[in-house]
Order: sequence, then structure tokens, then C-alpha cells
Amino acid sequence: MIMIIILKILLDLMTIEQPFLPSSIDTAIIGAGPHALTLVAHTLQKSKKFHHKFLVFDPSGAWLNQWAHQFNAFQIPHLRSPVVHHPESNAFALRAFAEKRQAELFEPYDLPGTQLFQDFCTEVVHRWQLATKIYPSLVTHLEILEQGYQLRLSEGRSIKARRVVLAHRGGTPYWPEWAIAALTNCPVNRLQHSSQIDLRQVQVNGDRILIVGGGLTSGHLAIGATQSGAQVTMMHRRQFYDKLFDADPGWLGPKYLKGFEANRNWAERFDLVKNARNGGSLTPAVMNQLRQAEKIGKLNFLENCQVQQAIWQQDRWLVTCHNHQQLEFDRIWLATGTQLNIHQEPLLAELQNKYPTEIFGGLPVLDAHLRWPGSQVFLMGGLAALRVGPTARNLSGARMASDRIVPALTKASVCLTPRP
Ligand SMILES: Cc1cc2nc3c(=O)[nH]c(=O)nc-3n(C[C@H](O)[C@H](O)[C@H](O)COP(=O)(O)OP(=O)(O)OC[C@H]3O[C@@H](n4cnc5c(N)ncnc54)[C@H](O)[C@@H]3O)c2cc1C
Repeated sequence: MIMIIILKILLDLMTIEQPFLPSSIDTAIIGAGPHALTLVAHTLQKSKKFHHKFLVFDPSGAWLNQWAHQFNAFQIPHLRSPVVHHPESNAFALRAFAEKRQAELFEPYDLPGTQLFQDFCTEVVHRWQLATKIYPSLVTHLEILEQGYQLRLSEGRSIKARRVVLAHRGGTPYWPEWAIAALTNCPVNRLQHSSQIDLRQVQVNGDRILIVGGGLTSGHLAIGATQSGAQVTMMHRRQFYDKLFDADPGWLGPKYLKGFEANRNWAERFDLVKNARNGGSLTPAVMNQLRQAEKIGKLNFLENCQVQQAIWQQDRWLVTCHNHQQLEFDRIWLATGTQLNIHQEPLLAELQNKYPTEIFGGLPVLDAHLRWPGSQVFLMGGLAALRVGPTARNLSGARMASDRIVPALTKASVCLTPRP
């Protein structure tokens, strides 16, 4: 009997169909996050025909999987951005969707609740019939062909595309040198980057945790850890400060973007992008929660302080700071963000060789449609910041990037601009 069951399972496994993959497609979109969804919704709004022309690649096989994971893993109750920022082209669509869910719009400026935003995006996917437009695979190589591109997929198959959009966020988690050195000699999970942490799963009751970094992620981690019974120290090389949005709202319109776009000095543009984000900040609401935790002795702030060395000694970390202060912890969590650098993007390696473009601070100079000059490869997200500005990686940046890319995808006249 057991043999029959095993044989049946083997037979079933052999007959499981791989999802259909055409040999070629007009437009391949890499990544199925909010940036890709924004681009697709905006393009379909302009041209319904586009529905037959594209395929999205993402290893999860689902829309916004990574987005949902990060909100759930950090137990984030609502977005930082107001209700007008979302993937649909009608800026008021999310507000209308929330008509009967007003309690899920948070103060100030109606910040959408996590579930509300996710439900809205599900509605966007449904509205544009996008559920079946994702092929579940990681793109491992992007090769330049005489005509178009070849995407090699993690399971060994490949597909040709006339145009490619990279909406994969990119970047690598930033590990400071002291942390790389410390990793060599410590037990699993005692030193982690925020991208490895899921607050729903950690067991930290009674642990002393050092959280390094001054952005909102450090705040979310600290709140989650104190609520799980940990004793938290938040360390920042500068002072912790709070502001509502990660970049001034002037960067969403002509107030700052006019001057930015008029500036032809790309190095200066890079500085503007960097300075506008100013290395990360907490929101007033999160700062308030942290101050409460500080008051009841669950949390303390260490400002203007940097780790020089961390050594795992028997069962704890001995951390030495630049000011020679020595501290002991059970865990270290890095909320040090990600580093964007075009030289560390394997998918763009061949493109860089064949069509070298200027690079400033690791970011490429793209054409006005966010196309890698000379090619039909478009970039969205933080990698497009020299064109889009400091909010390039955010939902607002996805809209601005779409405004630039959509005409190139839908109008023949801007399809083949010559290499500048
Ligand atoms: C915790 C957190 C909260 C944030 N909150 C806000 C907010 O409130 N408002 C706001 O405007 N911004 C916010 N942001 C910033 C930004 O909007 C998000 O990071 C957003 O997820 C970026 O969207 P994306 O589509 O570029 O990337 P992602 O959401 O990361 O999606 C990219 C997708 O690409 C896939 N992928 C990667 N490489 C490949 C490959 N080689 N082949 C195929 N697929 C690939 C990944 O699996 C992923 O699903 C937040 C960021 C974080 C980290």
C-alpha cells in the first residue's frame, strides 16, 4: 500500500506542469513590488493593448510579496506616506476605497493602514486582471542580444524581451566593517541585519539588544523588541530626530524638483538626493512611543556614538564604542539600511560594459525616460534617483518614474530615441 502511495506521489510530481513561459515577450518587468504595480497600472490606463505585451518576473509569484513581508515582519501599523500615494493613476482612488474604512486612515495627513493599503493593491491587481501576469522566477542574468534581451531565469529557462524594466528595488543590506568582522565568531542570530529579522518570530524576552541606526526601521524594531520584553539600546552616529516624511514634500513637486531637473551637474544632483534624505529619521509618532519606553526604563538612546568593535565573549557581546565606552549585549540588530550601487547589480553588468554611462555615487545617469542610454532597459526605484529625485524609492517615486516610462512604452515616437 505504502509503495503505491509513494509511486502515486512520484507520478504526480512528474506531471506537475511548469507555468507557461512564452519564448519571447515585448516587455519584461523584473520584480512585482509596488513600483512594478504602479508602472503596469499607469501603462494600462494609457493603453489597454499593453495587457498582451508584458510579463512580470518575481520569485514569489505574487504581487507585493516583499512589501507585505516587510510590514508584517516589523509589525508596522500604517504607512509613512499619505493616502494619495499608491499604485493607481487616480490619486484619489485609495481615499475612495477607504470611504467605509475611515478608522484605517491615521493621523496626520491620512496615512493608510497596512491592511487597507494591501486590500487596495489587491483591488488594483483584480481591476487590471494582473493576477496571472507574474511568472514565478528570479531573473539571474540579463543578456544583450542583437535584437532585444535575453532573461535567464533561476530554474534554467529563459525568455527574450524587446524591452526590460528593472523594478526589483536592488541594493544590498549594509553591514559596517566592525559587524562583518564580528560575524566570524558568533552564534547564529546574535548579530542580524534588519532584513533578516521577523518580529513575529523572535524570542527576546529579557535580552539586552543593541539596535544600530537612526531611521524608522530602528524605531520599529525597538518598539517590537521592548514589547517582547527586551531591554533595548538604540545607537546612532548622530542625534535621533523625528520628521513626518523621509524627504521634504517639496520634493514631490516643482518647489524643489524644478531646480533639481535644471541642474546638469550630476554630482551635485547626487548630493541633493543624499542630503534630502539626511540619513534616515523617525516619525513623531514612533519617537513618542520610544520616549514612553525610555520613561519606563525599557529603552535608552545612545547618540553621537559609533561601534568600533564588537566581540562575542562566551555568551554575550562586548561592544566598544569610539569614545571607548564598553557595553554588554545579548544581541545586535543592524538597522543600517541598504546600499545602492550600480556596480553591485549583477543584472546590469553586461549593460554597463556595452553601454557605459556616467555614474555618480553608485547611481547611473539615465535618459529622460529612465532608460539606460543606448538601450531599451528602464530602471525604477532608488537606482533612478538622479532623474526622479530623493523620493525615487518611495511610492511617490514609483508614480514619477511611471510618468516618465509610460510614454516610452506606449508611444512609438519615443520608443527608439538615439543614444544621447
Ligand atoms: C519597512 C519599510 C516601510 C516602507 N514604507 C513606505 C511608505 O509608507 N511609503 C512609501 O512611499 N515608501 C515606503 N517604503 C519605501 C518603498 O516604497 C518600499 O521599499 C517599496 O517596497 C519599494 O518598492 P519596490 O517595488 O521598488 O521594491 P519591493 O517591494 O522590494 O519589490 C521588488 C520585488 O522584486 C523582486 N526581485 C528582486 N530581484 C529580482 C530578480 N532578480 N528577479 C525577479 N524578481 C526580483 C523581489 O522579490 C520583490 O518582490 C518602505 C520601505 C520599507 C523597507
